[in-house]
Amino acid sequence: MNRAEMLGRAVSRHEPWDMVIIGGGAVGMGVAVDAASRGYEVLLLEQHDFGKGTSSRSTKLVHGGVRYLEQGAISLVMEALKERGLLRQNAPHLVTDLAFVVPNYEWWEAPFYGVGLKVYDMLAGRYGFGTSQMLSKEDTLARLPTIKTEGLRGGVVYYDGQFDDARLLINLAETAVEQGALILNYTPATALTRDADGFIDGVVAKDLENGHEFRAAARVVINATGPQSDRVRRLVHADAEPLIAPSQGIHLVFDGSFLPGGHAIMVPHTNDGRVMFAIPWHDHTVVGTTDTPITEVSDEPRPFDEEIEFILETAGRYLRRPITRADVLSVFVGIRPLVRSGTGGNTASLSRDHTMHIDQSGLLTIAGGKWTTYRHMAEDCVDHAATLARLPERPCVTRNLNVHGFHRQADNFGALSVYGADALLIQDLIRAEPSLGAPLHSSLPYCGAEVVWAARVEMARTVEDVLARRTRALFLNARAAIDMAPETARLLARELGYDEAWQKQQISAFHALADGYLVKT
Ligand SMILES: Cc1cc2nc3c(=O)[nH]c(=O)nc-3n(C[C@H](O)[C@H](O)[C@H](O)COP(=O)(O)OP(=O)(O)OC[C@H]3O[C@@H](n4cnc5c(N)ncnc54)[C@H](O)[C@@H]3O)c2cc1C
Repeated sequence: MNRAEMLGRAVSRHEPWDMVIIGGGAVGMGVAVDAASRGYEVLLLEQHDFGKGTSSRSTKLVHGGVRYLEQGAISLVMEALKERGLLRQNAPHLVTDLAFVVPNYEWWEAPFYGVGLKVYDMLAGRYGFGTSQMLSKEDTLARLPTIKTEGLRGGVVYYDGQFDDARLLINLAETAVEQGALILNYTPATALTRDADGFIDGVVAKDLENGHEFRAAARVVINATGPQSDRVRRLVHADAEPLIAPSQGIHLVFDGSFLPGGHAIMVPHTNDGRVMFAIPWHDHTVVGTTDTPITEVSDEPRPFDEEIEFILETAGRYLRRPITRADVLSVFVGIRPLVRSGTGGNTASLSRDHTMHIDQSGLLTIAGGKWTTYRHMAEDCVDHAATLARLPERPCVTRNLNVHGFHRQADNFGALSVYGADALLIQDLIRAEPSLGAPLHSSLPYCGAEVVWAARVEMARTVEDVLARRTRALFLNARAAIDMAPETARLLARELGYDEAWQKQQISAFHALADGYLVKT
């Protein structure tokens, strides 16, 4: 992926693209992969870096959603379970099975969750991940050695999928480009243009690196900006009724020793009636999430103090070892692009299904859903977009399209396993320049070759791109990420041709950003 080359092609093109997609999160990138693989000509514009929004800030689960089963949303769960199976099939290097234990402290929990999770298994049908099973107290403790034993009766184990969200997004970006799409980061859509009849016929975009604006003509424009969907809709109709009810969710990240044994904990009912997870992820423990309605959508949402306390308190009820603010290595926050229903204030009960909306000027907005269902959302969106733009009908091919990096035995690549087949090329970089194999920090497994790879191949432009999304350093351990910034800046500057002043500016910008991922004691 070469940004300069793609930018040059986008600027010099005057004929209309079949589709211009605004937004480089899971949904927009999924639409780019789908449309390009059908043979449509596609341009995708992302205002920041790919995955800067919600799509790098999820709970990292590829799941049907046990919670939605309880709400009776059978078709939503079945659809998501099918997509879970397809995603593991098409990106086995990034989607892995994870065993979840629901610990039981009350007599009724074992039969209740036991039966519910059997239904979950059944709904997955041939896309199943593993069979749920009742556990004795001893079995539960063997799988969750750090759990509170007082009153523990046993548990139920079931299986779902886990992934690295930002890495999947980057691999989807590479897949989109391989299929012929043109994608640009740091290029916001600043305005939409209309033809003589008032129909949208293009986008004005701004390259944030050189400040130049250019126009991209389009047969149809797709608004896939997630929580920011209403902002883009209002570029066309200033008084458009809001479609999105934004709600934020936070996660706290701890050392891996809080959850040894490779199993996750699923707490089916927190005090506010939600589900909470504690999951092992990249040798750390991620605990979350919350669901707090918000009014302002920002690029860098911040946690509320009550959210931090709530997660610590809930985790403390299940874990034997005391858990405090001082144990938090990182806190990250994402905003759900939930689709509004009436005027209700409780976002936890809003549907996780997706919605498509076409306004009178022909702007197609797609929002809602979840990471797990991005492929299905994209298929639905491209079907509608092709009809709207009167493009020749072409069948969707993504059900069996391998995602870039596809590799069945990626585990063999150790710390580089998330790169799948690309791990071999990163190993080549290290062979050619052995100093690039040295770890950038003693607490995290990342090395210099990954910075070089991110800049050369994965369109990383800043220290933040590398430490937040190409690697997950910022999300795993914010302090360690701050320590890694100078060497990351040096290697990036070497690759991208920047000077020392740029490095200094990058280090201080990253420090300011990472400060928001630290929890003050
Ligand atoms: C706390 C939390 C936990 C979650 N956990 C899970 C989970 O475990 N599993 C699961 O399946 N789902 C999960 N989800 C849901 C899932 O993460 C989201 O549904 C999904 O990431 C939304 O993707 P998106 O592309 O719609 O939005 P985003 O990822 O936010 O992408 C929208 C993009 O549009 C860009 N943009 C905005 N305006 C413009 C413009 N003018 N020009 C160009 N670009 C623009 C933004 O910068 C952004 O990158 C979770 C969500 C949250 C909040």
